[in-house]
Amino acid sequence: MQEDSPVQNENTPDTSQTTQPQRTGRRNRLIVLGAAALVALGLGGVAVATSGNDRPAPAAVSLDAQSRAEAASRADRSERESSTPVTPSLSPTPSPSAVSASPTPTRTAVAKVKPKPKKTTKPTPAWVDPMPGAAVTSCYGQRWGTLHAGIDLALPSGTPIRAAAAGTVTQAGDASDGYGNSVFIDHGNGYLTHYAHQSRIAVTVGQKVKAGQVIGYEGATGDATGPHLHFEVHQGMWNQIDPAPFMRAHGVDLGC
Ligand SMILES: [Zn+2]
Repeated sequence: MQEDSPVQNENTPDTSQTTQPQRTGRRNRLIVLGAAALVALGLGGVAVATSGNDRPAPAAVSLDAQSRAEAASRADRSERESSTPVTPSLSPTPSPSAVSASPTPTRTAVAKVKPKPKKTTKPTPAWVDPMPGAAVTSCYGQRWGTLHAGIDLALPSGTPIRAAAAGTVTQAGDASDGYGNSVFIDHGNGYLTHYAHQSRIAVTVGQKVKAGQVIGYEGATGDATGPHLHFEVHQGMWNQIDPAPFMRAHGVDLGC
């Protein structure tokens, strides 16, 4: 008895449980339908006119989202607009630009001022090319059985000739020795430079010259087949040495 009764009790509740959910499901469906109808009525004539159950609901949601977004943006705008006159956040922004604009002219003014003294204060090198840009037509060495004791530098006649280094003019003129109009400069360190075949001499004996100073003009006086500067370096008077390595050691490349 006791064993059967639970079985019967189990059967009866099974049927009741199966029937009760169905009833409750029907009731729920009715409730859902009623709620949907209420929602449809609540949405108004638009939902009814469209007669779409799914379309108006998301449309309404999207409209709500848009309206909320617009409201939020309006709120942001209102906050921004309201903040603009009250907070001085915009007033400092022009002030830093004015501050930044003021240092820029000072920087340019400083940059303009600095290079000028640098250019003017550049010291001339101790040794310079006596005739820059000239073509080397003959180097120091044996030539035609005799020693060519200098370097021949060619440019059009009348090209300025410059002192290779600072010194004192010891000879200036035509000694009728084949060099034509020539100039000797004693550099005070045991070396002299000699500039021959000049068309015109621009210095006098005893004159002190600076490196790069014009001492005369190229020509073809003396034993010269054409206008050129015959440039010599003397280690002691009339002891000619090869000018090329000497000048190269002083930072001037004559090309030989
Ligand atoms: Zn020569």
